[in-house]
Amino acid sequence: MSRMLRKLEAKQGRRHSGDEELRARAVELARRYLDGTELPESVRWVDNQHARWGSCTPESRTIRISRRLVDMPSWVVDYVLVHELAHLRIPTHGRDFWDLVARYPKAERARGYLEGFSAGARAETAEDGTMTEEELPEGTVED
Ligand SMILES: [Zn+2]
Repeated sequence: MSRMLRKLEAKQGRRHSGDEELRARAVELARRYLDGTELPESVRWVDNQHARWGSCTPESRTIRISRRLVDMPSWVVDYVLVHELAHLRIPTHGRDFWDLVARYPKAERARGYLEGFSAGARAETAEDGTMTEEELPEGTVED
């Protein structure tokens, strides 16, 4: 296969990482783990979230997921989606929130995975210090 063709295929393969696919995934997870009551209005990938994996604005029911997750295993992305979906119901990180998130069977494993990843990433970005943050709407819950 030519290099060009392979490139083209790679590009097409990325199409499933689009916002529409992400939203459909979130809706499916909300139905499976959160009684189908917490449906998001919008779910999208964002490029400018470096210090958090996701954020949620319960008032407008919008969820943003860091594009850094694109290449991670799907069960990790699913965890972040379930986490943000749970914030639609409970904005704070209290006991009841974590009970809700724990309905997703791989929640603990995914948290460990992301913590390990963050520890590695911190060491890398510490030097240039060029972290820029998105302005988030008031009432937004981070992570
Ligand atoms: Zn959170």
